[in-house]
Amino acid sequence: MRRKPARRRKGPRKTHRGGPVLIAFDLSRRKLFDLGHPARVRFRIHSAAGQVRVRLVLRRPGSRAPVTTIALGSRATGRTQSVALTGREAGSLPQGRYVLRIAARDGRGRTLRRAKGIESTRELSYVHHRFPLVGAFSYGGSGARFGSPRSGRRHQGQDLVAASGTPIVAPRGGTIKTVAYQAGGGGHYVVLRGSGENRDYVFMHMLSGSVRVGQRVRTGQRIGQVGSTGSSTGPHLHFEVWVGGWFSGGKPVDPLPLLQAWDVSG
Ligand SMILES: [Zn+2]
Repeated sequence: MRRKPARRRKGPRKTHRGGPVLIAFDLSRRKLFDLGHPARVRFRIHSAAGQVRVRLVLRRPGSRAPVTTIALGSRATGRTQSVALTGREAGSLPQGRYVLRIAARDGRGRTLRRAKGIESTRELSYVHHRFPLVGAFSYGGSGARFGSPRSGRRHQGQDLVAASGTPIVAPRGGTIKTVAYQAGGGGHYVVLRGSGENRDYVFMHMLSGSVRVGQRVRTGQRIGQVGSTGSSTGPHLHFEVWVGGWFSGGKPVDPLPLLQAWDVSG
C-alpha cells in the first residue's frame, strides 16, 4: 500500500527511518569553464529504497532562489554515482559564483538528509572565457599595446610577454580555422573561431603548433606554446581578437580589456 507523502512542515523535521541519507558528495573542480572540461559530481546515498530521484540545484551565494535545477532522474542507492557537470545542462549558465546543492527524494516523498559531517553543498564558479596563458606573463610596455605603431602599420593585437614554452590555451571553446607559418611575420600561428560568438582569436609566434585545422577545442584546452618564431625579438604571445572573421570581413579590436577581465574572473 502506498502511503501519502508527508507534508513538509516548518520547524524541525521528523526523522524518517529508512529515508535517503547523503553519505558522500564531491565536486571535482571548483571552477568550471563554459565549453570547457566538465566537472565530475560524485555522490552516494543510503536508503531503504533501491532508487531515489536526484537533482542538482544551482543558486547564487546568499540567495535561496535556484538559478537552475538539473534533474538526474532515478539513481541507485548504496553505491557511488558519478555524473558529468558542464553547466549547459539547462541552457547556458550565466557567468558567476554559484552554490551547488544535491537534493533527493524517495518514492514516499522523503527528502534527503545528510549523514553527520557530510555537506550537501559545494561552491562553484562558472566562467565563459579563460586567460590564454598558463603561467607567469606581463602585459609589456606601450609597444605591446593594440594600435601602437609598427613600420607602416599599426599593431593589431596585444603582446603578452612570457617564457618560451609557456602553455597557450583556448580562451573559448571553438574550432581551429587556420594553422600556418609565416617566416617574415607571425611565425607559427593559429586562428580559433569561438563557439556561439562572432569572434576569431589569433595566436602568433608560437613554437610549432599542436592543433590542426578543423579541430574542435574546449575552453582551456592547450593549443600551443609561447615561442619567438617569425618576426619577433623575444618569446611572447601576440594575441588578436577579431569581431567577425579574421581577414574575412571582420575587424581587430583591442584585446586588453578582455584579457584583463579573464585574468581576474573566478
Ligand atoms: Zn604583437
